[in-house]
Amino acid sequence: MRPNSMEARDVAYHLHGYTNPRAHEEQGPMVIDRGEGVYVFDTQGKRYIEGMAGLWSVAVGFNESRLIDAAQNQLRKLPYYHSFSHKSHGPAIDLAERLIDMAPVQMSKVHFTNSGSEANDTILKMIWFRSNALGKPEKKKVISRLRGYHGVTIASASMTGLPNNHRSFDLPIEGVLHTTCPHYWKEGRDGESEEAFATRCAEDLDAMIQAEGPDTIAAFIAEPVMGAGGVVVPPATYWQKIQAVLAKYDILLIADEVICAFGRTGKMFGSNTYDIKPDIMTMSKQLTSSYFPFSAFMINERVYEPIADEGNRIGILGHGYTGSAHPVGAAVALENLKIIEERDLVGNAAERGAQLQAGLGELAAHPLVGEARGVGLIAALEIIAPERQGDARAPGALGAHMNRIFHSNGLISRNMIDAVGFCPPLIITEAQVSDMLGIVEKSLETLTRELV
Ligand code: PLP
Repeated sequence: MRPNSMEARDVAYHLHGYTNPRAHEEQGPMVIDRGEGVYVFDTQGKRYIEGMAGLWSVAVGFNESRLIDAAQNQLRKLPYYHSFSHKSHGPAIDLAERLIDMAPVQMSKVHFTNSGSEANDTILKMIWFRSNALGKPEKKKVISRLRGYHGVTIASASMTGLPNNHRSFDLPIEGVLHTTCPHYWKEGRDGESEEAFATRCAEDLDAMIQAEGPDTIAAFIAEPVMGAGGVVVPPATYWQKIQAVLAKYDILLIADEVICAFGRTGKMFGSNTYDIKPDIMTMSKQLTSSYFPFSAFMINERVYEPIADEGNRIGILGHGYTGSAHPVGAAVALENLKIIEERDLVGNAAERGAQLQAGLGELAAHPLVGEARGVGLIAALEIIAPERQGDARAPGALGAHMNRIFHSNGLISRNMIDAVGFCPPLIITEAQVSDMLGIVEKSLETLTRELV
């Protein structure tokens, strides 16, 4: 690193999340300079297909002028206002109405937050508030899933079911439980069918509820398709069976749609894809294509009514953020949703998704690939080591290395232990999906040469 270079100054001043700090001091950052469509360019001018859409989020690509104009126009008109004490503004009202109209099930109200973590964190507070309103103060626990990802604030990190989000952070907090991850390839037993595995997942949930006491469980939170846990597509009957258990015990269902919402799975919501009927839905990322930090959750009448009664009894719903319903974020979200609709990006995700999944499916025959999985434009390859691989067999070593090869070949992916994930912008074209698949194939050959 040259003294005073961007890289050196990043190491000197910037503490990165999801990075090993000591390794970062040694190797420095990859500095991204600009974006164009599905591509980003580093400071050396090298072009990469952004195969993860940033962090599963840039639906419309990296230089959408309509979003820039929407932000600019709103900044000029009303750059900031809030939603406390009965205040509101046009973009928040329009967006709340739009989201309720789009919802896959009848929803009642939208509350705006600034990140996926914050939305999920807030939901837990709302659920506790509701349970108190219903005179059920013991009904406060929430069940999530091992390898589920719901964020990194204290409550949302607790709901996240990944060890790195708990270790040395003194998490999870009390009252947050984790049930079976619905990943058949990894968790299915010898001779167990996918259908029988789905039944077992539902039985595990039922047993956990029984063991804890059904009157103590307020909610179950899950992503329709797990993202950061390694892109886990549930077995076909999983959601139907899980929802039957929740209905039996009067437990609320929270669909964390932070990744899935707005087309990622080839339908508008993950809940449409799997016939999920949530009481609460969290959204972020593709809501603004992450051009502005923004998130929201929707609640149905069953959730709203007791909260409204309790707020009335106390005299206030004592919650809200300075940035809640930020007018610039809301304006960007409205324009972004318009683009998704006008350009039929959900249809494109279905079509280009089929191409991506078929291409990755062919690569599943490669000796280094354990499983190819995904739906729509979200996918992963599980990279497995051949016997002779020695030290590189440590979990994660191979995935991280595969990722470095993708980078050198001009594709940004993300490794989650040994799964490498793909989640490109929804605007991706047929030729660009082919390019991505070509790089993946070529990179697997590079890895094969290195290992064998
Ligand atoms: N929920 C899901 C499903 C996510 O994938 C993420 C982030 O990746 C979050 C919540 C947390 O969102 P944020 O990083 O905006 O806090």
